[in-house]
Amino acid sequence: MLMYHAVTPAKAVPAWPWAVSLQRFRDQLDFLAAEGYATPTMGELAAAPGRLRGRTAVITFDDGYADNLAACEELQKRGMRATWFIVSGCIGREPGWPADGRPGGRLLDVAELREMHAAGMEIGSHTVSHVRLPEIGEACLRQELHDSRAALENLLGAAVSSFAYPYGAWDERCADAVKQAGYAAACTTRTGWALRDNDPYRLRRLTVFSHDTLGSFARKLYFGSHDVRWRDIAAYALRHLRVS
Ligand SMILES: [Zn+2]
Repeated sequence: MLMYHAVTPAKAVPAWPWAVSLQRFRDQLDFLAAEGYATPTMGELAAAPGRLRGRTAVITFDDGYADNLAACEELQKRGMRATWFIVSGCIGREPGWPADGRPGGRLLDVAELREMHAAGMEIGSHTVSHVRLPEIGEACLRQELHDSRAALENLLGAAVSSFAYPYGAWDERCADAVKQAGYAAACTTRTGWALRDNDPYRLRRLTVFSHDTLGSFARKLYFGSHDVRWRDIAAYALRHLRVS
């Protein structure tokens, strides 16, 4: 699973590490297409992990920045899909949580989310207010999970089954609450293959950073790790020598 946030229109490498330029995003999609990756939604991965054959990359976007519309268009041009995690209390508005150097601008609005959903994109929840879930009490936790899901389901007229923990912050209590709230799966920001822990409520992801080149992007996909060491590459080469 790949994790994106903002996608900036300028060609330059964005200063915020979690943004990528639209040009690099296009190149990454072309790479996935050329390498034969299927791009199901996270809901599909969670529903039938055993049924996916061949190279699979689940593309995810956290927060739902309005600049993601251009990314959505690029996906549609290539017949690809992705999953968006939306903060239900900030739809169509400026993010209500600390800026942390991210590019300015509002979040996706109701009409845009409906259009994306109609185009086959999955809309998941990222809470009501983008809080660190392990730090809040039981009642608030239930509310953040339940109310965001209800609001999104109401807006889309469809079930919402996927969730992403804000800031990647989670613990066992939160994972249980996500399950109790009726979600089928949740993803963290832990690095690695999505299904490595064999638990649908703590799926791992690979972060795509602003400075990632096609080379580093490809290495992430091949090794399921951000920081690929020569030892891993040697082990990989050796495995391929043995089987060929
Ligand atoms: Zn977030």
